[in-house]
Amino acid sequence: MTDLEGACRYVNERWCQMTGLTAEQAAGTPWTQAVHPDEREQVLKAWQQAVREGSEFVLDHRFRSRSGRTTWLDTRAVPLRDRSGRLTYYLGANTDIADLKRTEETLRASEARFRSYFELPLVGIALIGPDKRWWEVNDRLCDLLGYRRSQLLRLSWAELTYPDDLATDLAQFDRVMNRRIDGYSLDKRFLRQDGTLLYASVSTRCVRRPNGVVDYFVAVVQDITERKQAEEHIQHLAHFDVLTGLPNRALLGDRLEQAVLRALRDRVQVGVLLVDLDHFKRINDTLGHTVGDQLLREVANRLKGCARQGDTISRQGGDEFAIVLPDLEVNDEAARMAQQILEAVAQRYQIEDHELHVSCSVGISLCPRDGRSAENLLKNADSALYRAKDLGRNNYQFYLSGATIVARERLSLENSLRHALERDELELYYQPKWDFHIGAMTGAEALVRWNHPELGLLPPARFIPIAEDSGLVLPVGEWVLRAAVKTVGNLHKNGWPGLRIAVNLSARQFRQTNLTDLVKGLLIETGFDPTCLELELTEGILMHHTEDNIAALRAFKTMGVRIAIDDFGTGYSSLSYLQRFPVDVLKIDRSFVTDLPTSDSNAAIVDAIVTLAHGLGLEVVAEGIETFEHVEFLRAHGCDQGQGYYFGRPLPLAEFENLLAQDRRRAAAA
Ligand code: C2E
Ligand code: MG
Ligand code: MG
Repeated sequence: MTDLEGACRYVNERWCQMTGLTAEQAAGTPWTQAVHPDEREQVLKAWQQAVREGSEFVLDHRFRSRSGRTTWLDTRAVPLRDRSGRLTYYLGANTDIADLKRTEETLRASEARFRSYFELPLVGIALIGPDKRWWEVNDRLCDLLGYRRSQLLRLSWAELTYPDDLATDLAQFDRVMNRRIDGYSLDKRFLRQDGTLLYASVSTRCVRRPNGVVDYFVAVVQDITERKQAEEHIQHLAHFDVLTGLPNRALLGDRLEQAVLRALRDRVQVGVLLVDLDHFKRINDTLGHTVGDQLLREVANRLKGCARQGDTISRQGGDEFAIVLPDLEVNDEAARMAQQILEAVAQRYQIEDHELHVSCSVGISLCPRDGRSAENLLKNADSALYRAKDLGRNNYQFYLSGATIVARERLSLENSLRHALERDELELYYQPKWDFHIGAMTGAEALVRWNHPELGLLPPARFIPIAEDSGLVLPVGEWVLRAAVKTVGNLHKNGWPGLRIAVNLSARQFRQTNLTDLVKGLLIETGFDPTCLELELTEGILMHHTEDNIAALRAFKTMGVRIAIDDFGTGYSSLSYLQRFPVDVLKIDRSFVTDLPTSDSNAAIVDAIVTLAHGLGLEVVAEGIETFEHVEFLRAHGCDQGQGYYFGRPLPLAEFENLLAQDRRRAAAA
């Protein structure tokens, strides 16, 4: 307790300890005596003011004991008044607040340190609340994001995040909130106020309260635009052609794959156009690469002009460009584009002082028709491009699949087959038949050939099926019959009487209503011996329209014409029909003969067929005899006749006659 001058009237034990004075020494001395000399004046002033105003005295100040120890005191004193209300004394308490002051000091220091980091000019730093709002931001962050501090503090980071990058960030943020992690780093994009993007690397750490709840976040934001740009530049180099700036082959492949996947899912088409300049090499060679390069650039521009939004144009290398047309709805959209490209490329070019003209060729493939992978589509577009080049360049061609080519070939064969008869392109070959009983050639099978003007000699398998489908087999078949009968008729007159000729009939021919009339007319007209004519039918022909067939076979029988079942054993092999049909000969198919005598089962089949045929009073002919072993086996098993390369291949007439003569000489010699 002091008087109004500050002189101590009463001190307690603790005051004595703090000052190092005894109570007696302290009494009457001003309490301010122990205040640190540096602050004494200031303290005195404050004291006098409090006294003047009669108010409370409150002050923190340093204090020095008699021994020189300095500490901090929090001094508070209240005025005391007597009954009349006159100010008499002050009653004060001095609390040692050294510890508190120290803590404050440390805090201030750490705050200062933090501030110095916070305001580091290189990185953006923010304190962020659990509500995602910016609580504090440094100048650098304001710069980076392009907002003024006051604006920024009203926003949350989520609002400024580029929408595509938000989900990843939120997911991590939630993990922190859920106490799974304490922080995370990621690369993300912010939307600046001016709408441009900031590529940033952001590291976020949270500060939790003792109960684990997030108090706030500290985030460090670094500008990585340059790094991103470098990355993008590298990406660009990897994906774009340097000369034209167009996507390169690799990128086109990617885009095409994506387009194919989408097309297969959405059931639309994708078109692939390969564009190749015609005779570009000439320009390069004569005018030099600089001109060549400029031309390629100009072509690239024109191609861009033809493309729709969403199409990808690439330079595949050299003077070849590829265009992917995703989501084609109509087929001829690709053709229209190709036509447009042909026209655009063909416009004249002014390069340096050269006026240039180039054309191009275009190959087109379509997904899914021509392929369901980028690789196949490109390969097939390439094959279409080659066709366009073959067809004289400066045109476009669609890819023709194997199936399409076969169909085309058929069509063109069918067309030329129509003229084959008029142009006399068909020819009969004769393959000798050997009679095992007599041991000599007694007949032949007539086998048709087509001397195609471009494709050369065609075997029947190449054109008989086409002739069947188109109905041309009727005139062809008639021609064969007529030629066979006439030729062999001549042979009869020229020293080979009784020579038999077998003619193959196709199903369609056999069903021809007037076939019997035709044969009858032919026989009468030529005077050919009907017993020397053998008609070869397959099992299949006889299995349908049975009643009509039986009638036709009877008619032939009446005429004396013989009927043979060709390729016996390969078809229905329903033996019961053999009884019902008036058939004369079974021709064992060559598939049973080929591996005789080693194949036991085929040996058994041949044996059975011979036994069966003979039981029914039929003759047996074996086809495809190629070796002496075949001959031995078949003769031993009772075959009547044989046919095959062993005896002779199918031969043109003149050679066949020679063969017959040779055989006759051999027989005579024997
Ligand atoms: P196909 O009537 O069974 O004629 C026998 C086929 O076997 C002939 O083939 C003949 O060259 C072949 N060949 C004969 N001996 C041997 C042999 O020892 N080994 C082998 N590996 N093959 C042999 P080509 O001339 O190509 O005739 C094939 C088929 O075309 C004939 O089979 C026949 O069904 C049909 N064809 C031939 N000419 C005519 C015709 O004028 N009209 C009709 N509709 N079809 C015919
Ligand atoms: Mg035959
Ligand atoms: Mg046959």
